[in-house]
Amino acid sequence: MKHMKTVLILEHTEEVFDKLTCDVCGAESHWDENWGSKEHEKIITTLNLEEEESFPNGGQSTLTQYHICPPCFKNHLAKWMESHRNSAPTVSKSVW
Ligand SMILES: [Zn+2]
Repeated sequence: MKHMKTVLILEHTEEVFDKLTCDVCGAESHWDENWGSKEHEKIITTLNLEEEESFPNGGQSTLTQYHICPPCFKNHLAKWMESHRNSAPTVSKSVW
């Protein structure tokens, strides 16, 4: 006997992460937002503007991001920042 049952099959589309590319040179990251090339490496670059307003009945936020690979961060963004108003980055290091 052939038994049949009714199943619910949902057909939908969903935005899922595909790849991250540098907004300057177009390079692709290897691991999501990690630009490291080896499994033990973690190289994250961020350039974000977060704007948020909170009120008693709600709020709103806007996040503007540039994704930039480490070479473009060092060779373009950092050099541009340093050449304008002599700005310097905040550098923090840790060892474990
Ligand atoms: Zn780049």
